[in-house]
Amino acid sequence: MSQSHKIKVGVAGVGHLGKFHVQQYHNIDNVICMGIFDTNAKVSSEIAQKYNIKVYDTLKSLIKECEAISICTPTSTHYQVAKQALRSDCHVLIEKPITHDIIEAQNLIEISNEFDKVIQVGHIERFNPALSELSLDDIKPKFIESHRLSPFNTRGTDVDVVLDLMIHDIDLLLSVVKSDIKNIVASGVSVLSDKIDMANTRIEFNDGCVANLTASRVSQKQLRKFRIFENHKYTNIDFLQPCQETYLFAKNKPKEKSPYVLVNKNQDKYILYHQQKIKSYNALTLELENFIDSIVNHKNPLVTAYDGLAALEVAFEILQQINLNNKK
Ligand code: NAD
Repeated sequence: MSQSHKIKVGVAGVGHLGKFHVQQYHNIDNVICMGIFDTNAKVSSEIAQKYNIKVYDTLKSLIKECEAISICTPTSTHYQVAKQALRSDCHVLIEKPITHDIIEAQNLIEISNEFDKVIQVGHIERFNPALSELSLDDIKPKFIESHRLSPFNTRGTDVDVVLDLMIHDIDLLLSVVKSDIKNIVASGVSVLSDKIDMANTRIEFNDGCVANLTASRVSQKQLRKFRIFENHKYTNIDFLQPCQETYLFAKNKPKEKSPYVLVNKNQDKYILYHQQKIKSYNALTLELENFIDSIVNHKNPLVTAYDGLAALEVAFEILQQINLNNKK
Protein backbone atom coordinates (compact mmCIF):
# COMPACT_ATOMS: atom_id res chain seq x y z
CA MET A 1 0.00 0.00 0.00
CA SER A 2 1.57 3.32 -1.05
CA GLN A 3 1.99 6.15 1.47
CA SER A 4 -0.39 8.32 -0.60
CA HIS A 5 -3.12 5.66 -0.64
CA LYS A 6 -6.22 6.91 1.17
CA ILE A 7 -8.20 4.38 3.20
CA LYS A 8 -11.88 4.29 2.29
CA VAL A 9 -13.85 4.26 5.54
CA GLY A 10 -17.50 4.15 6.54
CA VAL A 11 -19.51 4.32 9.75
CA ALA A 12 -22.28 1.87 10.70
CA GLY A 13 -24.59 3.39 13.31
CA VAL A 14 -24.54 7.19 13.51
CA GLY A 15 -26.33 7.81 16.80
CA HIS A 16 -24.68 9.51 19.77
CA LEU A 17 -21.16 8.15 19.20
CA GLY A 18 -21.19 7.28 15.50
CA LYS A 19 -21.67 10.92 14.51
CA PHE A 20 -18.38 11.80 16.26
CA HIS A 21 -16.62 9.06 14.27
CA VAL A 22 -17.93 10.67 11.06
CA GLN A 23 -16.80 14.09 12.28
CA GLN A 24 -13.30 12.94 13.28
CA TYR A 25 -12.65 10.88 10.13
CA HIS A 26 -12.93 14.21 8.28
CA ASN A 27 -9.90 15.42 10.29
CA ILE A 28 -7.62 12.54 9.24
CA ASP A 29 -5.50 13.08 6.13
CA ASN A 30 -5.12 9.59 4.68
CA VAL A 31 -8.83 8.76 4.89
CA ILE A 32 -11.80 9.14 2.54
CA CYS A 33 -15.12 8.96 4.37
CA MET A 34 -17.30 7.05 1.89
CA GLY A 35 -20.53 7.27 3.82
CA ILE A 36 -22.77 5.88 6.52
CA PHE A 37 -25.43 3.29 7.21
CA ASP A 38 -27.98 3.41 10.04
CA THR A 39 -31.16 1.36 10.42
CA ASN A 40 -32.89 4.62 11.38
CA ALA A 41 -33.24 6.52 8.08
CA LYS A 42 -34.08 9.81 9.83
CA VAL A 43 -30.86 9.69 11.86
CA SER A 44 -28.70 8.84 8.84
CA SER A 45 -30.20 11.55 6.64
CA GLU A 46 -29.55 14.21 9.34
CA ILE A 47 -25.89 13.19 9.66
CA ALA A 48 -25.48 12.88 5.89
CA GLN A 49 -26.75 16.42 5.41
CA LYS A 50 -24.57 17.81 8.18
CA TYR A 51 -21.35 16.25 6.85
CA ASN A 52 -22.31 16.15 3.18
CA ILE A 53 -21.74 12.40 2.84
CA LYS A 54 -23.54 9.53 1.20
CA VAL A 55 -26.16 7.37 2.94
CA TYR A 56 -26.11 3.69 2.04
CA ASP A 57 -29.39 1.74 2.17
CA THR A 58 -27.83 -1.43 3.49
CA LEU A 59 -24.78 -2.50 5.46
CA LYS A 60 -23.82 -4.69 2.52
CA SER A 61 -23.67 -1.75 0.11
CA LEU A 62 -21.58 0.33 2.58
CA ILE A 63 -18.97 -2.34 3.25
CA LYS A 64 -18.75 -3.20 -0.44
CA GLU A 65 -17.21 0.23 -1.06
CA CYS A 66 -15.11 0.51 2.14
CA GLU A 67 -11.79 -0.93 3.28
CA ALA A 68 -12.59 -0.20 6.92
CA ILE A 69 -15.62 0.69 9.01
CA SER A 70 -16.37 1.95 12.49
CA ILE A 71 -19.15 -0.04 14.17
CA CYS A 72 -21.09 2.30 16.46
CA THR A 73 -24.33 0.33 16.66
CA PRO A 74 -25.79 -0.91 19.97
CA THR A 75 -23.59 -3.54 21.64
CA SER A 76 -26.08 -6.35 21.04
CA THR A 77 -25.60 -5.87 17.27
CA HIS A 78 -21.76 -5.62 17.17
CA TYR A 79 -21.27 -9.30 16.35
CA GLN A 80 -23.58 -9.49 13.33
CA VAL A 81 -22.31 -6.21 11.87
CA ALA A 82 -18.61 -7.02 12.47
CA LYS A 83 -18.94 -10.57 11.12
CA GLN A 84 -20.47 -9.33 7.89
CA ALA A 85 -17.83 -6.59 7.49
CA LEU A 86 -14.83 -8.85 8.20
CA ARG A 87 -16.12 -11.48 5.77
CA SER A 88 -16.40 -8.74 3.12
CA ASP A 89 -12.72 -7.91 3.60
CA CYS A 90 -13.26 -4.84 5.79
CA HIS A 91 -11.12 -3.88 8.79
CA VAL A 92 -13.30 -2.96 11.78
CA LEU A 93 -13.15 -0.60 14.71
CA ILE A 94 -15.81 -1.94 17.08
CA GLU A 95 -17.06 0.39 19.80
CA LYS A 96 -16.70 -1.00 23.30
CA PRO A 97 -17.53 -3.60 24.51
CA ILE A 98 -16.37 -5.81 21.64
CA THR A 99 -19.59 -7.90 21.82
CA HIS A 100 -22.12 -8.83 24.49
CA ASP A 101 -21.09 -12.48 24.45
CA ILE A 102 -17.70 -14.19 24.90
CA ILE A 103 -18.22 -16.83 22.18
CA GLU A 104 -19.11 -14.06 19.72
CA ALA A 105 -15.89 -12.19 20.51
CA GLN A 106 -13.86 -15.39 20.06
CA ASN A 107 -15.58 -16.02 16.71
CA LEU A 108 -14.75 -12.51 15.52
CA ILE A 109 -11.07 -13.06 16.37
CA GLU A 110 -11.09 -16.28 14.32
CA ILE A 111 -12.75 -14.56 11.36
CA SER A 112 -10.33 -11.60 11.50
CA ASN A 113 -7.37 -14.01 11.50
CA GLU A 114 -8.84 -15.98 8.61
CA PHE A 115 -9.40 -12.82 6.52
CA ASP A 116 -6.24 -11.06 7.82
CA LYS A 117 -8.20 -8.03 8.99
CA VAL A 118 -7.65 -5.60 11.87
CA ILE A 119 -10.10 -5.47 14.76
CA GLN A 120 -9.66 -2.51 17.07
CA VAL A 121 -11.92 -2.11 20.11
CA GLY A 122 -13.06 1.37 21.17
CA HIS A 123 -11.67 1.46 24.69
CA ILE A 124 -11.08 5.17 24.21
CA GLU A 125 -9.68 5.95 27.66
CA ARG A 126 -6.38 4.40 26.53
CA PHE A 127 -6.06 7.49 24.32
CA ASN A 128 -7.20 9.96 26.98
CA PRO A 129 -4.76 12.88 27.37
CA ALA A 130 -4.72 12.24 31.14
CA LEU A 131 -2.83 8.99 30.48
CA SER A 132 -0.44 10.42 27.91
CA GLU A 133 2.39 11.17 30.36
CA LEU A 134 2.04 7.92 32.28
CA SER A 135 4.49 5.16 31.44
CA LEU A 136 2.36 2.04 32.00
CA ASP A 137 5.44 -0.21 31.76
CA ASP A 138 7.07 1.43 34.79
CA ILE A 139 4.07 1.11 37.11
CA LYS A 140 3.95 -1.50 39.87
CA PRO A 141 0.55 -0.96 41.49
CA LYS A 142 -0.34 -2.34 44.90
CA PHE A 143 -3.87 -0.91 44.96
CA ILE A 144 -6.12 0.65 42.32
CA GLU A 145 -9.37 2.48 42.91
CA SER A 146 -11.68 3.63 40.11
CA HIS A 147 -14.98 5.49 40.04
CA ARG A 148 -16.99 5.91 36.84
CA LEU A 149 -20.33 7.54 37.57
CA SER A 150 -22.88 8.97 35.14
CA PRO A 151 -26.42 10.35 35.29
CA PHE A 152 -29.09 8.02 33.90
CA ASN A 153 -29.60 7.80 30.14
CA THR A 154 -31.55 5.05 28.39
CA ARG A 155 -28.76 4.78 25.80
CA GLY A 156 -26.54 1.84 26.67
CA THR A 157 -29.13 0.12 28.84
CA ASP A 158 -29.24 -2.83 26.39
CA VAL A 159 -26.36 -4.10 28.59
CA ASP A 160 -25.49 -4.03 32.33
CA VAL A 161 -23.43 -1.11 33.65
CA VAL A 162 -20.46 -3.49 33.89
CA LEU A 163 -20.41 -3.80 30.07
CA ASP A 164 -21.54 -0.22 29.51
CA LEU A 165 -19.21 1.77 31.82
CA MET A 166 -17.04 -0.41 34.06
CA ILE A 167 -15.58 -2.14 30.99
CA HIS A 168 -13.41 0.99 30.41
CA ASP A 169 -11.79 0.59 33.83
CA ILE A 170 -11.48 -3.19 33.48
CA ASP A 171 -9.55 -2.64 30.24
CA LEU A 172 -7.34 0.01 31.89
CA LEU A 173 -6.76 -2.24 34.88
CA LEU A 174 -5.65 -5.15 32.68
CA SER A 175 -3.29 -2.84 30.80
CA VAL A 176 -1.72 -1.56 34.05
CA VAL A 177 -1.45 -4.74 36.17
CA LYS A 178 0.83 -7.35 34.61
CA SER A 179 -0.41 -10.32 36.62
CA ASP A 180 -3.19 -12.90 36.45
CA ILE A 181 -6.41 -12.47 38.39
CA LYS A 182 -6.70 -14.60 41.53
CA ASN A 183 -10.15 -13.71 42.81
CA ILE A 184 -13.16 -11.52 42.05
CA VAL A 185 -15.96 -10.50 44.39
CA ALA A 186 -18.72 -8.17 43.27
CA SER A 187 -22.09 -6.73 44.09
CA GLY A 188 -24.58 -4.77 42.03
CA VAL A 189 -28.19 -3.66 41.77
CA SER A 190 -30.82 -2.71 39.20
CA VAL A 191 -32.18 0.76 39.89
CA LEU A 192 -33.88 2.33 36.86
CA SER A 193 -33.38 -0.26 34.11
CA ASP A 194 -34.02 -3.99 34.13
CA LYS A 195 -30.23 -4.54 34.09
CA ILE A 196 -27.52 -3.88 36.70
CA ASP A 197 -27.18 -0.08 37.03
CA MET A 198 -24.67 0.14 39.90
CA ALA A 199 -21.78 -2.22 40.50
CA ASN A 200 -18.72 -2.59 42.67
CA THR A 201 -16.01 -5.19 42.44
CA ARG A 202 -12.83 -6.12 44.29
CA ILE A 203 -10.31 -7.88 42.07
CA GLU A 204 -7.24 -9.57 43.57
CA PHE A 205 -4.23 -10.35 41.39
CA ASN A 206 -1.59 -13.06 41.89
CA ASP A 207 1.12 -10.41 42.43
CA GLY A 208 -0.80 -9.03 45.45
CA CYS A 209 -2.34 -6.01 43.73
CA VAL A 210 -5.96 -5.31 44.67
CA ALA A 211 -8.39 -3.22 42.61
CA ASN A 212 -11.66 -1.73 43.74
CA LEU A 213 -13.84 -0.60 40.79
CA THR A 214 -17.16 1.21 41.09
CA ALA A 215 -19.51 2.09 38.23
CA SER A 216 -22.95 3.68 38.30
CA ARG A 217 -25.27 5.09 35.65
CA VAL A 218 -27.76 6.45 38.14
CA SER A 219 -25.54 9.07 39.69
CA GLN A 220 -26.38 12.75 40.02
CA LYS A 221 -22.95 13.84 38.76
CA GLN A 222 -20.33 12.55 36.36
CA LEU A 223 -17.07 11.22 37.78
CA ARG A 224 -14.26 9.34 36.05
CA LYS A 225 -11.32 8.83 38.37
CA PHE A 226 -8.63 6.18 38.34
CA ARG A 227 -6.18 6.14 41.25
CA ILE A 228 -3.00 4.07 41.31
CA PHE A 229 -1.16 3.42 44.58
CA GLU A 230 2.42 2.14 44.40
CA ASN A 231 4.93 1.63 47.23
CA HIS A 232 6.13 5.25 47.37
CA LYS A 233 3.83 6.89 44.88
CA TYR A 234 0.17 7.77 44.39
CA THR A 235 -1.18 8.85 40.97
CA ASN A 236 -4.60 10.39 40.63
CA ILE A 237 -5.99 10.40 37.07
CA ASP A 238 -9.09 12.37 36.19
CA PHE A 239 -10.39 11.42 32.73
CA LEU A 240 -12.99 14.16 32.68
CA GLN A 241 -10.77 17.21 33.35
CA PRO A 242 -8.38 15.63 32.07
CA CYS A 243 -5.71 15.84 34.74
CA GLN A 244 -2.92 13.78 36.31
CA GLU A 245 -1.48 14.42 39.78
CA THR A 246 1.28 12.49 41.48
CA TYR A 247 2.30 12.35 45.13
CA LEU A 248 5.71 10.92 46.07
CA PHE A 249 6.41 9.68 49.60
CA ALA A 250 10.15 10.21 50.04
CA LYS A 251 12.83 9.86 52.67
CA ASN A 252 15.04 12.48 50.97
CA LYS A 253 14.64 16.15 50.22
CA PRO A 254 13.37 16.89 46.72
CA LYS A 255 16.20 17.66 44.26
CA GLU A 256 16.51 21.34 43.37
CA LYS A 257 15.36 20.96 39.78
CA SER A 258 12.67 18.38 40.62
CA PRO A 259 9.22 19.15 39.15
CA TYR A 260 7.78 18.08 42.53
CA VAL A 261 6.91 20.56 45.26
CA LEU A 262 7.00 19.84 48.96
CA VAL A 263 3.51 19.60 50.48
CA ASN A 264 4.33 17.98 53.80
CA LYS A 265 7.44 17.28 55.90
CA ASN A 266 7.74 15.47 59.20
CA GLN A 267 11.28 14.83 60.44
CA ASP A 268 12.98 13.05 57.50
CA LYS A 269 9.74 12.04 55.73
CA TYR A 270 8.58 14.13 52.79
CA ILE A 271 5.39 14.22 50.74
CA LEU A 272 5.99 15.75 47.31
CA TYR A 273 3.41 16.76 44.76
CA HIS A 274 3.44 17.26 41.00
CA GLN A 275 0.60 18.13 38.65
CA GLN A 276 1.40 16.94 35.15
CA LYS A 277 0.82 19.45 32.35
CA ILE A 278 -1.63 17.75 30.03
CA LYS A 279 -1.60 18.57 26.33
CA SER A 280 -5.16 18.87 25.17
CA TYR A 281 -6.19 16.79 22.14
CA ASN A 282 -9.17 14.80 20.92
CA ALA A 283 -8.85 11.18 22.10
CA LEU A 284 -11.22 9.93 19.40
CA THR A 285 -9.05 11.43 16.62
CA LEU A 286 -6.05 9.62 18.11
CA GLU A 287 -8.02 6.38 18.37
CA LEU A 288 -9.14 6.58 14.72
CA GLU A 289 -5.61 7.52 13.58
CA ASN A 290 -4.30 4.48 15.43
CA PHE A 291 -6.87 2.32 13.60
CA ILE A 292 -5.86 3.71 10.20
CA ASP A 293 -2.15 3.43 11.05
CA SER A 294 -2.54 -0.23 12.01
CA ILE A 295 -4.22 -0.91 8.63
CA VAL A 296 -1.64 1.01 6.58
CA ASN A 297 1.39 -0.38 8.43
CA HIS A 298 0.07 -3.90 9.11
CA LYS A 299 0.51 -3.66 12.86
CA ASN A 300 -1.58 -4.27 15.93
CA PRO A 301 -3.73 -1.37 17.15
CA LEU A 302 -3.23 -0.16 20.72
CA VAL A 303 -6.44 -1.94 21.79
CA THR A 304 -6.72 -5.31 20.04
CA ALA A 305 -9.62 -7.76 19.84
CA TYR A 306 -7.71 -9.89 22.37
CA ASP A 307 -7.76 -6.92 24.80
CA GLY A 308 -11.49 -6.50 24.12
CA LEU A 309 -12.07 -10.20 24.81
CA ALA A 310 -9.96 -10.14 28.01
CA ALA A 311 -11.97 -7.19 29.35
CA LEU A 312 -15.22 -8.94 28.42
CA GLU A 313 -14.22 -12.15 30.22
CA VAL A 314 -13.52 -10.22 33.42
CA ALA A 315 -16.80 -8.29 33.00
CA PHE A 316 -18.74 -11.56 32.76
CA GLU A 317 -17.00 -12.96 35.84
CA ILE A 318 -18.01 -9.78 37.72
CA LEU A 319 -21.62 -10.18 36.51
CA GLN A 320 -21.64 -13.82 37.58
CA GLN A 321 -20.47 -12.83 41.06
CA ILE A 322 -23.18 -10.13 41.21
CA ASN A 323 -25.86 -12.66 40.20
CA LEU A 324 -24.64 -15.17 42.80
CA ASN A 325 -24.68 -12.46 45.43
CA ASN A 326 -28.21 -11.33 44.48
CA LYS A 327 -29.53 -14.91 44.84
CA LYS A 328 -28.37 -15.13 48.49
P1 NAD B 1 -27.11 5.20 19.99
O1 NAD B 1 -28.34 4.45 20.33
O2 NAD B 1 -27.07 6.67 20.19
O3 NAD B 1 -26.71 4.94 18.45
C1 NAD B 1 -26.77 3.68 17.85
C2 NAD B 1 -27.21 3.88 16.40
O4 NAD B 1 -27.10 2.62 15.74
C3 NAD B 1 -28.69 4.31 16.26
O5 NAD B 1 -28.76 5.46 15.43
C4 NAD B 1 -29.41 3.10 15.64
O6 NAD B 1 -30.45 3.48 14.78
C5 NAD B 1 -28.26 2.44 14.89
N1 NAD B 1 -28.41 1.00 14.65
C6 NAD B 1 -28.99 0.06 15.44
N2 NAD B 1 -28.81 -1.17 14.91
C7 NAD B 1 -28.11 -0.99 13.76
C8 NAD B 1 -27.60 -1.87 12.78
N3 NAD B 1 -27.78 -3.19 12.87
N4 NAD B 1 -26.93 -1.36 11.72
C9 NAD B 1 -26.74 0.01 11.61
N5 NAD B 1 -27.20 0.88 12.52
C10 NAD B 1 -27.85 0.39 13.59
O7 NAD B 1 -25.93 4.46 20.79
P2 NAD B 1 -24.48 5.03 21.16
O8 NAD B 1 -24.53 5.65 22.51
O9 NAD B 1 -23.94 5.81 20.03
O10 NAD B 1 -23.69 3.65 21.34
C11 NAD B 1 -23.27 2.89 20.27
C12 NAD B 1 -22.11 2.00 20.69
O11 NAD B 1 -21.04 2.83 21.13
C13 NAD B 1 -22.44 1.06 21.87
O12 NAD B 1 -21.78 -0.16 21.70
C14 NAD B 1 -21.84 1.77 23.07
O13 NAD B 1 -21.43 0.89 24.09
C15 NAD B 1 -20.65 2.46 22.45
N6 NAD B 1 -20.26 3.67 23.18
C16 NAD B 1 -18.95 3.84 23.45
C17 NAD B 1 -18.54 4.97 24.14
C18 NAD B 1 -17.07 5.16 24.45
O14 NAD B 1 -16.74 5.90 25.36
N7 NAD B 1 -16.18 4.53 23.71
C19 NAD B 1 -19.46 5.93 24.54
C20 NAD B 1 -20.81 5.75 24.21
C21 NAD B 1 -21.20 4.61 23.53
